[in-house]
Amino acid sequence: MAIAVVLAGLSLVAAAQPADDPIARVLRQDQTAPGAPPSATHLPVAPAKAPPPKGAGPSPGGNAGGNPPVVLSARIGEHDDRTRFVIELSDPVNLRTFTLTNPDRVVVDMPEVSWRLNAPPRPSGLGSVKSYRYGVFRKGYSRMVIDLSRPVTVSDPLVIPPANGFGYRVVIDLFPTQRTKFNTEAGWPADLKARETDAERLRAMIAEAPRPAGRRVIVIDPGHGGLDSGANGVNDLLEKDLVLAEGLKLAKALKALGYVVHMTRDSDAFVPLPERVAVARKLKADLMISLHADSNPDSDVNGLSIYTLNDGRSDREAAALAKRENQSDIIAGVDLSNANSPVAPILIDLAQRDTMNRSSRFAETALSHLHGVTDILARSPHRAASLAVLVAPDVPSVLIELGYLSNRSDAAQMNTDAWRERVARTIANAVDRHFGGNLAGTTP
Ligand code: ZN
Repeated sequence: MAIAVVLAGLSLVAAAQPADDPIARVLRQDQTAPGAPPSATHLPVAPAKAPPPKGAGPSPGGNAGGNPPVVLSARIGEHDDRTRFVIELSDPVNLRTFTLTNPDRVVVDMPEVSWRLNAPPRPSGLGSVKSYRYGVFRKGYSRMVIDLSRPVTVSDPLVIPPANGFGYRVVIDLFPTQRTKFNTEAGWPADLKARETDAERLRAMIAEAPRPAGRRVIVIDPGHGGLDSGANGVNDLLEKDLVLAEGLKLAKALKALGYVVHMTRDSDAFVPLPERVAVARKLKADLMISLHADSNPDSDVNGLSIYTLNDGRSDREAAALAKRENQSDIIAGVDLSNANSPVAPILIDLAQRDTMNRSSRFAETALSHLHGVTDILARSPHRAASLAVLVAPDVPSVLIELGYLSNRSDAAQMNTDAWRERVARTIANAVDRHFGGNLAGTTP
């Protein structure tokens, strides 16, 4: 869940000199040698400043075979006057870039692509790029989010056609700029905003499917997803993969007991935190179970813990966890301009007090079932924190941290099918006990 871990697997430091920069050479050739090869004389410019029609987003990529374009390589060149990103693709795609403040980020949106980077380059920290990540944002759309260490101006993406054994290369330059200029230029493009609103509306419509009479509805919420990987295990197990696998097993176990199950995500895609809560509320779910895995600088810390919403009081550890988990939308470059701060003090009314009591009761039941099935966090495994995904006033909600990916033994067992199966069945049984062991019926 920590920000640092989204850079998992990035291991190569790129520090190419401008003179060794093939893109720079191609560009120089283009400017100085009129007789240069035709491939270098017609450099199409992706229309970053002339976006596609409203609501369209990036144009679909793809090739004759219908497969998504493949990102073959990426490179970061850190020069005195600019930081240059070069992404090599199998097919041309239409990219769009925009910037966001607080924290300062560059977002590169594109149609869904398949990332095949063996050793993605890592910034040195000396240039404008602090870190970056990439992956699916929503189905059909991929996104790269670049965290900045200083305000920049972003060039229009430049597309260089295949040459010298390279595929299509997209060049994006980041030039240092003034803070005031950056702040003025930053913000979500209006048409992308509209697309996101449409996506949310669509989800809400799906959620409005009638619930079968007399059956309890459980929402399973695998954390993170897409370009938000969550925590990275000592064994390279990614939190987003673990919680999706565990969520699917839990769904199966609950369905077997007669529950109606809805998953906030059932693939490796990103879902904003408020949307997860909105789906659970729309469904009038009887319980929402968010699945995560924790990470700690102390690799000895291990065991499962369960979080419920706090009522304003929060210990330091819980506050730190909430900060990490609530980062998800920032990590993925979501538009937060209309959202309330997830960590703002939550006004709790009587109805919510009742919801919180139910959440806590389920947390206690689940912990008692899980004792002996997996290691439980030694110190107070039931905790309270201001987690953005737990704020539904009318849906009892818990967030289960399945274990510590930073702990060797936890990470190893969470990577086994046997452990996942056992824990999923135990949580399902705890749900059934919580609702009176009534085979998912609504009357206790
Ligand atoms: Zn998490």
